[in-house]
Amino acid sequence: MLGKGYAVDDPETTPSSSKKSKYIFVTGGVMSGLGKGVVAASIAKLLQLCNLKVSCMKIDPYLNVDAGTMNPLIHGEVFVTDDGGECDMDIGTYERFLDMNLTKEHNITTGQVYSSVIERERRGEYLGQCVQIIPHVTDEIKARIRGLAAKHALDILVVECGGTVGDIESLPFLEAMRQIRLEDGAENVLFAHVTLAPMLDVVGEIKTKPTQHSVQELRRIGIQPDIIAVRSKVMLDPSIKSKIALFANVSMHDVVSCHDVDSIYEVPEVLQRQGMVERIKNRLRLNTDGFDWGSWMHVIDSYRRLKDGMIRIAMVGKYVKLADSYVSVNQALSNAGAILGYRVKIDHIDAEIFERDMNNLGILDDYSGILVPGGFGKRGSEGIIRAADYARLKDIPYLGICFGFQLAIVAFARSVCMLDGANSTELDEDAKHPVVHILPEQRDVVNLGGTMRLGLHEIEVKGDTLAYRIYKSGKIYKRHRHRYELNLEYKDILERHGMVFSGWSDGARRMEILELPDKRFYFAVQYHAEFTSRPGKPEEAFLEFIRAALEYSTLKRGEGGASRSQSPRIQRTRPKARKI
Ligand code: GLN
Repeated sequence: MLGKGYAVDDPETTPSSSKKSKYIFVTGGVMSGLGKGVVAASIAKLLQLCNLKVSCMKIDPYLNVDAGTMNPLIHGEVFVTDDGGECDMDIGTYERFLDMNLTKEHNITTGQVYSSVIERERRGEYLGQCVQIIPHVTDEIKARIRGLAAKHALDILVVECGGTVGDIESLPFLEAMRQIRLEDGAENVLFAHVTLAPMLDVVGEIKTKPTQHSVQELRRIGIQPDIIAVRSKVMLDPSIKSKIALFANVSMHDVVSCHDVDSIYEVPEVLQRQGMVERIKNRLRLNTDGFDWGSWMHVIDSYRRLKDGMIRIAMVGKYVKLADSYVSVNQALSNAGAILGYRVKIDHIDAEIFERDMNNLGILDDYSGILVPGGFGKRGSEGIIRAADYARLKDIPYLGICFGFQLAIVAFARSVCMLDGANSTELDEDAKHPVVHILPEQRDVVNLGGTMRLGLHEIEVKGDTLAYRIYKSGKIYKRHRHRYELNLEYKDILERHGMVFSGWSDGARRMEILELPDKRFYFAVQYHAEFTSRPGKPEEAFLEFIRAALEYSTLKRGEGGASRSQSPRIQRTRPKARKI
């Protein structure tokens, strides 16, 4: 049953009556940052392993139309989909768990919903009516949720509502969810609420009160959760579960312990050990038999069977204070490490320390690889350029992503081609040698939201290059998010000095991959290789980078140098448990 505000125009998207999708709504309580995205993705994964057609959607109740203009330091990474959506980082989590490519329609925000409603009002489509949050905004939300489920003929759509229950912004979304349950019936809609049971360090006691309060808040707005997923440091014991169950008005078996585990990819197993699939199947009356861990067990095992050592990678960038700013890069590195049997220890290094004092570059000697991820703006850029140069000089494996590609060009132009004053025009508009400049089609762009070169583009890979050996194909497809690129006027001089451009797009109008063949591994890409890396199937450039780092660390260990710069790269320390 669709409200008047049905949103998606594409005929393909019109819901077919032949299949009725079911919904699992995931809400959050107590506080943000609990790993609600991982819980939502894990539930979806379990259902996918039951051979059901499943997908995930993220609701972000903020007013931005998309995540593109938000600061990654505060909000976390901006994840890019194939179709060029600049999305919340949870979309990346879903893609990695489900091994599926999602689209911008999988992420809805208040900004999108209100824009549609207001545009429709201006077109006169609500003529005579007073346009209100209920029913017009909630109809629009319901239409988007149902539209997505119908478009992909899903058995189940897991919809995660961002923020915490009680936030003003999320109220219309929760109301829309409540209505869907009322309209579609309890056998078609399930509510899972993710909360926190903190442990008081002093006494080691697990407290349930915050969970009780957040469930009360949810019930106050008309939603009785079916499943309570409780984040905690340690596994919840039955007495805690039954206490939460009593106050939350659910059976004890519907209280699920989501305790910390080494790898986020173990969370589906944690849930399944507590009977998650059976609970959901009974509630939603799902006719499906068979559950097969399939290749997911290999993923879990690869993370469990890591050797004792670890590969240390320095990630040099600007958004280093919040690890979530580069969550896909972190994941791509650890996916690659897991395949090779090693844990990757990533240290985020603020590039500004290399601006303050060149001697600080010496700390990079302690690493087996240097990675420069995407970034924007001047702050820290000179430090990054120095780090890119240092990697070349010391022959430390280097992987540059987007900004890391552009600044590797700047470093090489300055130090090897002797182009004094070489820079990207993003950082110095009047650079004497603008080796990186704005994309020609971007020159007249005024608005900042959604206007970069975004999404999947075809790239031709040159034969007999490192790039070709990595990708084993003359054609690859990668996701992009940039406004600047190599200035082709400088291509010749860079090549004459030994830089090889081994991948390009748009009929060689833009360079996409660079490498330095005389180095162990010096490789940089204009695209965001990290977005398409999956557990068990690491993106190829990341895999080769980590392989090179591993070889480099073994080599240095073999040299047995005792000096700081020759210290063993594989440390025999026991890593700390990772939280979900
Ligand atoms: N700031 C650079 C550009 O816009 C790089 C972008 C990025 O790293 N995502 O081209």
